[in-house]
Amino acid sequence: MISKEHIIKRFVSYVTVDTESDPNSDTTPSTAKQWDLANALVEELKVIGMEDVTIDENAYIMATLPSNVDHDVPVIGFVSHFDTSPDFTGANVKPQIHENYDGKDIVLNAEKDIILSPDYFEDLLLYKGQTLITTDGTTLLGADDKAGITEIVSAMEYLIQNPEIKHGKIRVGFTPDEEIGRGAHKFDVEKFGAEWAYTMDGSQVGELEYENFNAAGAVVTIHGKIVHPGYAKGKMINSIYIATEYINSLPRLETPEHTEGYEGFFHLHTVTGDVDETKLEYIIRDHDKEHFEARKEVMQKLATEINSQYGREVVSIEIKDQYFNMKEKVEPVMHIVDLAEEAMIQLDIKPLIKAIRGGTDGSQLSYMGLPCPNIFAGGHNFHGRYEYVPVESIIKATEVICKIAELTASKHK
Ligand SMILES: [Zn+2]
Repeated sequence: MISKEHIIKRFVSYVTVDTESDPNSDTTPSTAKQWDLANALVEELKVIGMEDVTIDENAYIMATLPSNVDHDVPVIGFVSHFDTSPDFTGANVKPQIHENYDGKDIVLNAEKDIILSPDYFEDLLLYKGQTLITTDGTTLLGADDKAGITEIVSAMEYLIQNPEIKHGKIRVGFTPDEEIGRGAHKFDVEKFGAEWAYTMDGSQVGELEYENFNAAGAVVTIHGKIVHPGYAKGKMINSIYIATEYINSLPRLETPEHTEGYEGFFHLHTVTGDVDETKLEYIIRDHDKEHFEARKEVMQKLATEINSQYGREVVSIEIKDQYFNMKEKVEPVMHIVDLAEEAMIQLDIKPLIKAIRGGTDGSQLSYMGLPCPNIFAGGHNFHGRYEYVPVESIIKATEVICKIAELTASKHK
């Protein structure tokens, strides 16, 4: 129904615009360059025939596809983000198109010997015979989440061009800064005006998610005492050693590299320090609310214990909640998950319902009053040079959006 060439052209036009976000910036969007794609998207939405196309002072884009039926249908929405992860450069992306993938190694970059291999990334074998879009090995691709934007724009365009498909009012929303955890925080849920929505921000074909981590960040600061090493006996407190003690007191196996499924973790991602002061930056993740709270307590308690050993506050800790499991907000309206599942089944896509080991814009939006499960966008190996997306998956996700729109209207006759 939707031509591959058309999809590729649209996707390439998005990923070749650098929209890397920056966690160290306080502005929204966090980087001025995100406006480049945001402004282009606004124009494109108008060109394909969307109505009420708006962009606010923080670059949040919204648009409407009006209903084409007489009866009342709940307003639904589709959301994706246009920034890319600061984990890896998103400048000068040179997408490589590999038609009819043969299931073998893909040389991303011969000069630098960068290979995308199914020996390591077995998912590749799911897509034998399909058209893959990869990087040239020097940047990320940005399928996260420009595949999602491609799908939403293409679905709206398709519905506009095929008015025989009956649907209610549809709202679309594109956000900046999802990758730095701020995609939803300035999203005007009331203005969006949808009863529920879906983020198009998952990975493999069929993914459908309504559970995600509860998340917090912790900064542990160890305050040492610097004294001339020649005269330090009984006086110096080396914050680095205390930091090591702190690190080793947390369960070594409850870390990202040792956990999967519903297992939570402590993740130490940054250490900076010298004798005088060492800072440990952690993220804490758990699907289960109680376990999540317990993890925060463990970190707190450990600080208290060390402090009591030294008889003063050598360890201070600051823990901030980041987002919560959307399950709590989606379960009361499970029909919105069932609907997406039914859409996939009707399109011969096997639904893969699983818990996200992360968060999405949707988890925050769900807590802001817009229940918002997550649907596959098709890409793999996000946030790095091995990122790739099969064009066929983008087309399938586009079809899922159209089918959800159609089912929502037919079920509310
Ligand atoms: Zn994403």
